[in-house]
Amino acid sequence: MRRHVYQCPRCGTESRPYALRGLAHAHADDHRRQHHGGDRPIGETFVTVPGTGWRDVPAEQRFATILLALIVVAVVILR
Ligand SMILES: [Zn+2]
Repeated sequence: MRRHVYQCPRCGTESRPYALRGLAHAHADDHRRQHHGGDRPIGETFVTVPGTGWRDVPAEQRFATILLALIVVAVVILR
């Protein structure tokens, strides 16, 4: 899943990656208010970066997650 990042060239900073584009825009609004008096810096951009996914999780952690899910399902069924 792609993540959305706000970049301010005037400050040379970028936001943390957000799962939702709207959250990156909200971050940009706060940044503009706090650092630029609400003005929009020339050249600011929003980019997308690769996010983490199920395949990025280590195999042991995936196995543990599946095992835990199976245990929860078994407990619910056997009640
Ligand atoms: Zn800035």
